[in-house]
Amino acid sequence: PTLFDALAPQPADTLLSLIALHRDDPRPHKLDLGVGVYRDDSGATPVMRAVKAAEARLLETQSSKSYLGPEGDIRYAELLQPIVFGRAVPADTFVGVQTPGGTGALRLAAELINAARKNAKGPGAKVWLGTPTWPNHAPIMTAAGLTVATYRYYDQATQTVLFDEMMAALQGAAAGDVVLLHGCCHNPVGADLDRSQWRAVAEVVAQRGLIPLIDLAYQGLGDGLEEDAAGARLVLDAAPDALLAYSCDKNFGLYRERVGALYAKGGTPARTELMRSNILLLARVNWSMPPDHGAALVRVILDDAALTADWRAELDGMRSRINRVRQALAAGDPWLAPLGHHRGMFSLLPLSPDQVATLRREHAVYMVGSGRANLAGLTLDTVPQFIDAVRAVR
Ligand code: PMP
Repeated sequence: PTLFDALAPQPADTLLSLIALHRDDPRPHKLDLGVGVYRDDSGATPVMRAVKAAEARLLETQSSKSYLGPEGDIRYAELLQPIVFGRAVPADTFVGVQTPGGTGALRLAAELINAARKNAKGPGAKVWLGTPTWPNHAPIMTAAGLTVATYRYYDQATQTVLFDEMMAALQGAAAGDVVLLHGCCHNPVGADLDRSQWRAVAEVVAQRGLIPLIDLAYQGLGDGLEEDAAGARLVLDAAPDALLAYSCDKNFGLYRERVGALYAKGGTPARTELMRSNILLLARVNWSMPPDHGAALVRVILDDAALTADWRAELDGMRSRINRVRQALAAGDPWLAPLGHHRGMFSLLPLSPDQVATLRREHAVYMVGSGRANLAGLTLDTVPQFIDAVRAVR
């Protein structure tokens, strides 16, 4: 035996096998509500118009592919600030770096927390996750050396946010613990906090000395760019120190280009500088520097008023389409009414893995086993078919 025989076998990615099953299904009426990407009325995940235009411009004007630094495209991270925070944030208390997707931002955040935790030599900096959550959250945190604690965020059977359980957990958290929050368009459940709940979370974060880690991966796909950041901004304002992991992969449709950013807020300039130098070190030892192309496209778009306007208009159209499908589902069956109040591409339906399997086998409806549905896989024309299928398995 060699070293690698000691590896534990790992399960295959279930999403990839679902993609293959869907691809090979000959039924013409098949519906794909599996993979978490936006789809238009024709089922395509198109390159956005502004991205195409920015690519043409970049091809014309880019004069070098020489290295940038571990912080990536600095102008990109600056231009995103007004969109994320509603304003340019002060450079002496905010650090912003480009990362390989929102995933890279979360990993970098986790490693920064762990570096601090190890030096502090306390038990602290547990990461609180509300369940269910994006299946990659806990593994990213533990891979970086952190301990995860959970509370129940959402009850799948009754389709309700368990806000009291969330508040009880946060009130019981220790100072210096980290609370990971979905900024908007919760993946997988679809149900977000309302304004007064965000205010209550901001209060407990401030009172208990918790560190918010906000995962903002779908800004603009819920109620609008401003609206989708409102809760995150409340919490950021309330906390002296905070982290925000951002993804441009959904709202710019750049998925495979891996475009993200990590913003770190430090309560004092000295602390912010410590965060900055450690973030740059951690970026260097992980990926040296992030891939350039996607962030350069976002920079070109946000640096140009006409391209920005076109990007916003197309994003508005995507959001409206999703919300029209949501309203049609909610109006079509009382059982689906909560979907009208959910936001973003996903909702977690109260379906068992068996029911999800039956939907696939007998009705050619493809969803992940948890019951998460990507509603961008539907159109107003296919909503009735979906409702009939769900009724049949319930
Ligand atoms: N957070 C959440 C909640 C997500 O759903 C995703 C993408 N599925 C990410 C982060 C990571 O996004 P990216 O593809 O930019 O790494």
